[in-house]
Amino acid sequence: MTLSTFAKEQLLFTPATPDGEAIPTIFAFPNEYSVGITSLGYQVVWASLAMRSDLQVSRLFTDIHEQLPRNPELLGFSLSWELDYVNILNLLESLQIPMRTNSRNHNHPIVFGGGPVLTANPEPFADFFDVILLGDGEDLLGNFIDAYKSVRNANRETQLQELAKVPGIYIPSLYEVEYHGVDGTIKSITPISSEIPPVVHKQTYRGNVLSASTVVTEKAAWSNIYMVEVVRSCPEMCRFCLASYLTLPFRTASLESSLIPAIDKGLKVTNRLGLLGASVTQHPEFNKLLEYINQPKYDDVRLSISSVRTNTVTFELAQTLANRGTKSLTIAIESGSEKVRKIINKKLDNEEIIQAAVNAKSGGLTGLKFYGMVGIPGEEEDDLAATVNMMLSIKKAAPGLRLTLGCSTFVPKSHTPFQWFGVNRKSEKRLQFLQKKLKSQGIDFRPESYNWSIIQTLISRGDRRLSQLLELTRSFGDSLGSYKRSFKQLKGKIPPLDFYVYTDWSTDTILPWHHLQGPLPQSTLEKHLAEAVSHFHSRDLVQV
Ligand code: SF4
Repeated sequence: MTLSTFAKEQLLFTPATPDGEAIPTIFAFPNEYSVGITSLGYQVVWASLAMRSDLQVSRLFTDIHEQLPRNPELLGFSLSWELDYVNILNLLESLQIPMRTNSRNHNHPIVFGGGPVLTANPEPFADFFDVILLGDGEDLLGNFIDAYKSVRNANRETQLQELAKVPGIYIPSLYEVEYHGVDGTIKSITPISSEIPPVVHKQTYRGNVLSASTVVTEKAAWSNIYMVEVVRSCPEMCRFCLASYLTLPFRTASLESSLIPAIDKGLKVTNRLGLLGASVTQHPEFNKLLEYINQPKYDDVRLSISSVRTNTVTFELAQTLANRGTKSLTIAIESGSEKVRKIINKKLDNEEIIQAAVNAKSGGLTGLKFYGMVGIPGEEEDDLAATVNMMLSIKKAAPGLRLTLGCSTFVPKSHTPFQWFGVNRKSEKRLQFLQKKLKSQGIDFRPESYNWSIIQTLISRGDRRLSQLLELTRSFGDSLGSYKRSFKQLKGKIPPLDFYVYTDWSTDTILPWHHLQGPLPQSTLEKHLAEAVSHFHSRDLVQV
């Protein structure tokens, strides 16, 4: 990427001219430009900052940047992929800003962060950020900038203490964490003074106008795509699903005042449209939306849909997608076992899955990719056999359709009912089992890396003690071996890998995100957990 990359952007908003007092700000994405500019979240936050005349914003990616201010006052990061933390540390280093919040002083910018990874569980990264924004950015971002302006001339300590009073703004350094011994569980998490809220509430935007691209460029990973957020969250509440539980309640963009104007605006500059959201086809007016896109003036539009619920794969949907350049569709079934689907609250039966394949084929799609998971709590060997049988039945019902099963390992996520479960140690073997059985039947099986699931779990359930580990691992590389090497080196100083990854935690454990309130209270998550466990066949599998 070169600087001319920025010149190729087509902006769909008008940046403001910074005024004389504008706050010098850097807004960074800790990866390459092509990745960052494809993130709708990054685009939208950048545009809302750039539309303010009281800020002078420059963008920074790992490969290119706009002209950066000599003395930035604010430095923001949008973190949407866990392992990009390495790039955050590298960028801080290249800007000569100390990595840890407790080594920064008034000459350094306030380092703030937001995005899905930090909203889910910021604790492993807590020591690297002065400010973390929890939840939807719509109102929160503006409230943060306004609050900062009101303390701009105060000392750093006062600035942070005042910012901590704004709902959704989390200042990690103002909370003290005590442990039951160096390698034990958390004993308490308390604010350092009575003026700091003991619990920070994740912010929820309630409007019916959702996000849409603010920039279109051929240099994006999805070249020239214009993205529209159709829904936020998902009403299905599969028990492991962060995309649903962390962002509840389910919200839909208004067709008339959000989606249609956004689509009309975007399709003036490109013909590639992406409909985004955890469950796009759940939009109550999804068919009307499809009809709108199907009108003759949009005949040349190429359409991509991020997620489709299995029982919404109708003949019409498949046909629309096939006519719009999509050859294959991905649907998440998680497991071929009815029992496992009950455990996770996936309201789907085998017939619906088979029907989706039949519809996909008759509508003109040439391939169908299923997405599954192994190691779901309560899963037994029989359940894997059920997945194999399910794939074979689909093959029989829709001959000629190219079938793929992508499969990951269950990773526990904060704020979900499965947050207390560890990873099942048999998961890797189970992936191998499916591979063997399906390959011999001519079904393409694509397992996700088991080692990567372990690293994800570590970060997903990590606490502040992991910051030392993350810093150390940065110099070793990003393989599981590097993390293990760091654990070895820090033995006796932090809990072992097993504690974070494989151990089931009891529901009275103080979790690392105990002071950060998600959409649902713990009592509701426990109820959903109990409901899931009631479908387990063997009580031996209940460990929490
Ligand atoms: S249907 Fe998909 S997005 Fe919705 S809760 Fe289930 S896994 Fe999550």
